[in-house]
Formats: sequence, C-alpha cells, structure tokens
Amino acid sequence: MSAHFQVGRGTVLPGFLDAHVHLALIDGTVLPSGGIARVLDLGGWLPDDLRASLPDLAYANQFMTAPGGYPRHSSWAEPGWSYAVATAADADTAVDLQVGAGASVLKITLNSVDGPVLGTEALAAVVGRAHELRMPVVAHAEGARQAGRAFVAGVDAFAHTPFSEQLADDLVTAMAARMTWISTLDMHGWGHPTPAFEIASDNLRRFHAAGGRVLYGTDLGNGPLPLGLNSREIAALLGVGPTPSDILTALCSPAPLGLTLGDNRVTFIPGERPQDPRDFTDWLVTARALTRSELEVLA
Ligand SMILES: [Zn+2]
Repeated sequence: MSAHFQVGRGTVLPGFLDAHVHLALIDGTVLPSGGIARVLDLGGWLPDDLRASLPDLAYANQFMTAPGGYPRHSSWAEPGWSYAVATAADADTAVDLQVGAGASVLKITLNSVDGPVLGTEALAAVVGRAHELRMPVVAHAEGARQAGRAFVAGVDAFAHTPFSEQLADDLVTAMAARMTWISTLDMHGWGHPTPAFEIASDNLRRFHAAGGRVLYGTDLGNGPLPLGLNSREIAALLGVGPTPSDILTALCSPAPLGLTLGDNRVTFIPGERPQDPRDFTDWLVTARALTRSELEVLA
C-alpha cells in the first residue's frame, strides 16, 4: 500500500470500507470504533439524524424490485424500502426518484426464491437509466439463473457473491472481466458454514483467480454480524485466494464502483503488519477508524 505509513506505534491506512451494510438496521455510529471508516448502504432509509457520527457513505435508498418482489414482504424491511417496477415504462421514474433522494448507487433485487423478479425488459430499462445517469448498479441475485440474468443486463456488481448455484467457468471468467463482487461470505452461517457458503466460496475462488475485483462486504443488519471488521469474513476471503495485500487493497479502495464516499477518517492499526500471514487477521481486526484530529492525539 503506497498510502501506508507509521505513526506512533501503529499503521495508518486509507479508511476501510464495508461495501454492504444497512444502516437502518444497525447502530452505525459504532462502526468507526470497529475499524470501518466508509460504507455502502445497499437499501433502506438512512438514520439521517446520526449522519455526523456515521462512517462516510454512499447509499442506494429504495430497492428496485418487481411488484411483490423481494424484499417487499421480508420482515426486516419496511414496505416503503421497495420500489415496484412493473414494466420498462416505470424505469426512469423509479431510478430518478432514488437520485432525487440522494442515492448515488442503484440496488436491484433479482430473488426468485422469495417472490417475482423483474422481467428482462424492465431489468434492462432500469440498468440503462442508471447508467445514463452514471450510477453503478448493484444486484442481489438469488435463485436459479438470476446471477447470469443480472450480468447480461449490464449490472456492475453483486451485493453478494453468487450463492444459489455453481456458476459455469466461462460465465465466471466473463463476469471477472467487468464486474465487482461484494464478498458477504460470513452471512452464510456466521462461522458455521452452510451449503450456500460452500457454493459462494467456490464461485469467489474462481472469480478472484480470473482477475475479478472483490470488495469486502458483510451485509451488516442481516443476522448476528459484528459491528466492525469481521474476522470471519476476512478469514473466509483468505480461504479462497486473496492474499493479505489483496484484502488491504480491497478495504482501502479509493473509489469503489467509481463512487466518491468522502475521507473523513483514516484507519489506524496498532503495531506493524505482521510478517507471518497467519497473524494478519488478528492484527487487522484491531483497526479503528479515526478522524484526523483523533489521529493527531495518537501521533
Ligand atoms: Zn443487504
């Protein structure tokens, strides 16, 4: 990392990013003390009154979904978090409303397990409108063939490493050439790996090997995840190919999906990066995200 330097008895890096959170479902104000300086909020209202204490962020606002589609009827999501796109004719209004609410990234759901999904034309129209407005599109793909449909429609990133099915090698290679995948491996069992964890790990191993861009992300708000850097997510990533340096690069990504998130905080980790990669995760998870004035106190 070129931006890495030593201060006091620690290491300073650009602010770490969790690329998949839902601030409406967690206390986001504690994330900096857990090492997270920046987040992508991938759906739901923002707790605006807390904005000054939250990590730097970009957000999606409402989920674009089919009428009655996921997460319209999920217990964790308010009905108003979803915007129903019935046909291609609804796409411009749907996307423009999110831009009007301050969103800079668009979240689409294609979850055929939990309800109807956008048809091919509606999907293409939503992605097309977002791209006209230079908004990256992130999809939640779940169920048979939904990841492939999202890719064909021009979706830029997956909110989760695809976990419903083993993707064919040629599809993974094609995806690696232009997509970003947000990891979220640990949400499959939280340390007790499920079949979906194994499927996702296999897909991510091949995506990474093919040169695909991977961001660290946890889906904070979904189940018992720690409110800060998650050592199990880091360990799961290390298990599928990325090196410790790759993981630092992902966490410090200056403009994830081309987005500008702000840089109010940097990451401070006590001590130097250990030589032995087996000690990397334990060192990494002692990170804190500090404002520059907090950092000066330490220096
Ligand atoms: Zn999520």
